[in-house]
Amino acid sequence: MQMVDLVHQIAEKYLMDGSRAVDATMGNGKDTEALCRLVGSHGLVYAFDIQEEALRLTRIRLEKAGLSRRAKLFLCSHAKAADMLAEPVDLFVFNLGYMPGGDKRIITRGESTVQAVNGLLCRLKAGGMGLILSYYGHEGGPEEKRILEAFLKELPGKEYDVTRTAMVNRSHFPPILYAIKKLS
Ligand code: SAM
Repeated sequence: MQMVDLVHQIAEKYLMDGSRAVDATMGNGKDTEALCRLVGSHGLVYAFDIQEEALRLTRIRLEKAGLSRRAKLFLCSHAKAADMLAEPVDLFVFNLGYMPGGDKRIITRGESTVQAVNGLLCRLKAGGMGLILSYYGHEGGPEEKRILEAFLKELPGKEYDVTRTAMVNRSHFPPILYAIKKLS
């Protein structure tokens, strides 16, 4: 099983036709496409990346799939995502690390990731879900993981359930999925 499949399976439980979702790390657009399918023809996905190439590839992917009208793509840091949303959202997704097949020097960073998660938690509906898939085997990855976990551990338990899932029978930095459920 790929952890990203688990992300999409959980997302399916929180999204329906008309839902609003955020892909905070667009990359090649695979997650954006999956979310666009899940929010249905009345839904909307807000997707962010700092690389023009990510927007180009995602635009092509969505056009081919006939899903372009379900997404708004932003060339800007997810640290500003909360300010760009016109409405509360049902779910957000992060896929940390570098773009597969892209420039490995452009990676997500702990400070901006935490800033983005914090902002998006404020825009998440009660009962909504935040999913953060952390790849951390690259340079800078362990530091981001440390900063993110320190932030997540401090989230008030009365307001959020935070879980951490990882495969235990894999070596070499198996990805970790953090799931944050907003309770109220
Ligand atoms: N979800 C993507 C997919 O389905 O292909 C993969 C995402 S990739 C692991 C991480 C992405 O985060 C890269 O495309 C990178 O450019 C982007 N990124 C890095 N820092 C960012 C930031 N501050 N704001 C938004 N995106 C960022």
